[in-house]
Amino acid sequence: MHAMVLTQPGSALAWSELPERVPGRGEIRVRVTACGVCRTDLHVVDGELPHPRLPIIPGHEIVGRIDAIGPGVDGLHLEQRVGIPWLGHTCGVCRYCIAGQENLCDRPLFTGYTRDGGFATAAIADARFAFPLGESGDDVALAPLLCAGLIGWRSLTIAGEGKRLGLYGFGAAAHIVAQVARWQQRAVFAFTRSGDLATQAFARRLGAAWAGDSDQAPPEPLDAAIIFAPVGDLVPLALKAVRKGGRVVCAGIHMSDIPGFPYQLLWEERQLVSVANLTRSDGVEFLRLAAKVGIVTQTTAYPLQQANLALADLRTGKFEGAAVLLPP
Ligand SMILES: [Zn+2]
Ligand SMILES: [Zn+2]
Repeated sequence: MHAMVLTQPGSALAWSELPERVPGRGEIRVRVTACGVCRTDLHVVDGELPHPRLPIIPGHEIVGRIDAIGPGVDGLHLEQRVGIPWLGHTCGVCRYCIAGQENLCDRPLFTGYTRDGGFATAAIADARFAFPLGESGDDVALAPLLCAGLIGWRSLTIAGEGKRLGLYGFGAAAHIVAQVARWQQRAVFAFTRSGDLATQAFARRLGAAWAGDSDQAPPEPLDAAIIFAPVGDLVPLALKAVRKGGRVVCAGIHMSDIPGFPYQLLWEERQLVSVANLTRSDGVEFLRLAAKVGIVTQTTAYPLQQANLALADLRTGKFEGAAVLLPP
């Protein structure tokens, strides 16, 4: 097999030939057909997340077909199309796993971070954490649903049911969440980097009622806001934009430091919460809903060998929507 491998955070991924891998007990091997590029991959490559397993193959928005099945796997078959998300394994016995909060597991493995991911021609996965994808929709369009979509969905659920929803950072996750929120008949207010008119126009095309710079006030107070951009400065801005009792959800795994702000911004029962990872039931629920909503993802495809370019373009916001890597 071939993969783009990270040996040292801060360095480029290297195209490498690796020995063919054999799925162990409870595992499947998937021939990767598409793998989305998530901002979390950028955090792993940049060394912003502690203790990655090294060397590591990044990538946790994997679409592929099962080409080998280890012993003890039930309910999956060869050639079946599956998706492999960020949550790659949980312990099943810690207090969080037992309470149905496996997203908070004490001993988890994360695809593309602490176990090898999908910037590769093949990937091994814990079969229990693979989602059957069915046959409708193409591989490239589905890939961003597996993290941007799933985490976006969890964030939207946690944001509550308010009708006026702010989205800070209008990239892969927000462009999916906006479509779900519109389908739920909410009004979407999109906030982008200052002066990023192209992304603001993109948000309006996806049905946003308003789009502007992140330091602008929305035309009316928001019921909730989700922050997708990894920028701590957005927290006080979002708190300022929500109404009394409103909620601000930080959806990223990493964020720059949040600056000090007057207590008045939190006062009147505003809430500030974070969202971590996903549960398998989030995945099942969201993938079912995605088909019903008819989510259309906007993707830019790159050959797998150009993963470094895709990451660089993500960093500078060169494309709208999501980047997806295609193995040769
Ligand atoms: Zn656990
Ligand atoms: Zn992700």
